[in-house]
Amino acid sequence: MLPLPESQKRDCQVVVIGAGIGGLTAGALLASRGYDVLVLEQAYVPGGCASTFKRRGFTFDVGATQVAGLEPGGIHARIFETLGVEMPESIPCDPACAVYLPDEAEPIQVWRDPKRWQQERLEKFPGSERFWAKLDELFSLSWDFNQRDPLLPPTELSDFLALATKLRPNTLLTAPYALRTIANLLKDFKLDKDVRLRRFLDMQLKLYSTVEADETAALYGAVSLGLSTEPQGLFHLEGSMQVLSDRLVEALRKYNGRLLTAQMVRAVKADQGKAIGATVYDRRKDREWEVKADQIIANVPIWSLTELLGNVLPRPYRQKIDKLPDAPGAFILYLGVRADCIPEDCPLHLQFLYDYNGPIAENNSLFVSVSRPGDGRAPEGCATIIASTFTNARVWWQDESYDALKKSYAREMLTRLSTHFIDLEKHILHQESATPRTFKNFTARPFGFVGGIGQRPNQFGPFAISNRTPIENLWLVGDSTYPGEGTAGVSYSALNCVRLLENEVG
Ligand SMILES: Cc1cc2nc3c(=O)[nH]c(=O)nc-3n(C[C@H](O)[C@H](O)[C@H](O)COP(=O)(O)OP(=O)(O)OC[C@H]3O[C@@H](n4cnc5c(N)ncnc54)[C@H](O)[C@@H]3O)c2cc1C
Repeated sequence: MLPLPESQKRDCQVVVIGAGIGGLTAGALLASRGYDVLVLEQAYVPGGCASTFKRRGFTFDVGATQVAGLEPGGIHARIFETLGVEMPESIPCDPACAVYLPDEAEPIQVWRDPKRWQQERLEKFPGSERFWAKLDELFSLSWDFNQRDPLLPPTELSDFLALATKLRPNTLLTAPYALRTIANLLKDFKLDKDVRLRRFLDMQLKLYSTVEADETAALYGAVSLGLSTEPQGLFHLEGSMQVLSDRLVEALRKYNGRLLTAQMVRAVKADQGKAIGATVYDRRKDREWEVKADQIIANVPIWSLTELLGNVLPRPYRQKIDKLPDAPGAFILYLGVRADCIPEDCPLHLQFLYDYNGPIAENNSLFVSVSRPGDGRAPEGCATIIASTFTNARVWWQDESYDALKKSYAREMLTRLSTHFIDLEKHILHQESATPRTFKNFTARPFGFVGGIGQRPNQFGPFAISNRTPIENLWLVGDSTYPGEGTAGVSYSALNCVRLLENEVG
């Protein structure tokens, strides 16, 4: 083993593997509480799925394009306040999304004003009032519970005792829905044959929970669907998504924490069931080094733990990981365009479904984000259009078909986008695409899986994956753990992890 460079000689109290929003938030919070924190990121820039890249004057958001939790009291707002750094500038998305169903010229617009959204959904989905009222009720009850910061899932006696203090009589009203799905609720209200409503819900839920109405837990679905309206809401960051991680890095450094990029953790070292350090590969210097730490926080998808620990992970935990259903992959087209091709008053986010009988994936359903004039993503008179579709990540690992598949996905997506954006192809100044392989290369996510664990009733809330791992002093944060994906979700995960770690370390 090579001796450590001078700057990296000191052992750390806490090593964080990965500078995604989950790792940076956990690292910055611990640094602000006086811990000596070192964050190691394998990429050359922090942010993971919420970072950006630049091409020919355009700035493209790699994955995440909209942010929840920036409203007063929202999770990002609370964390920035705690860390004493400025909130990134943002504007609310209104509508949060415009959803186009097959052969319909008028979209369903998810308005920010709850009354306007209520009116819209009653007009667009006649007869569904009672279903939406039930979702609103479940949202209020669940949100009320969330606001008390429950530590979920409980895995030790102390967790159960702490959780008991967060329960209120009204929390019990959610109990009958704990094991139900959104599709079960549709059936309760005799709406299971309403294909338009069902597919609208499938499209929205897939974005937030990676699974559709038949699999999404009713309580998770109610919360994620309710987040688009005031007093919560979705936000568009000024500049780019990178601002979010930049502010977290600023906070980390403010409290003397350190971030080293281009450092790939290849193995977590453990001794007698306790994590004690990591073997790191420096991509710039092409050499390995070792770091010792009292605590290790892995901001990686749960599947990566198998790679990082191998047989050190107890067998039942490895089997649990092996049994998890695959997460989806994403195919993404990044376009830098002349802005004339964008229809007037185009919302920031759109969704399209082309065939009711097709999947919410594989170009049959697209999620599209469009930049706003002056938001820092494109030169004057230009804009960025980012279109994504879910895809089976494993299909992209066959070398023989990869290039052809990538081309045909891009071609089909462009054809579909051309039905909405005016003379699109003539206006393109830059075009490139990302596949699950790109995501694996850029974010080290196994198979290029994105979005974490699907929020099914048996994997949500009390049954979610814990920040605790079976290896002492090794913690997991990010979109595999409670409460799930999204920059807001992984910020909760980081906050919970910090609370658990502090309780344990004392
Ligand atoms: C296409 C797409 C669109 C999305 N849209 C939205 C959206 O609009 N809004 C929203 O809120 N969310 C969205 N999401 C989800 C959101 O981006 C993620 O849930 C969230 O950013 C995940 O954060 P994380 O910290 O858990 O993980 P990641 O972002 O994956 O970060 C993990 C970090 O760890 C690093 N790393 C991994 N392994 C190692 C290792 N061995 N050594 C060192 N470093 C390592 C990675 O390089 C990465 O930087 C989207 C995701 C995708 C892919």
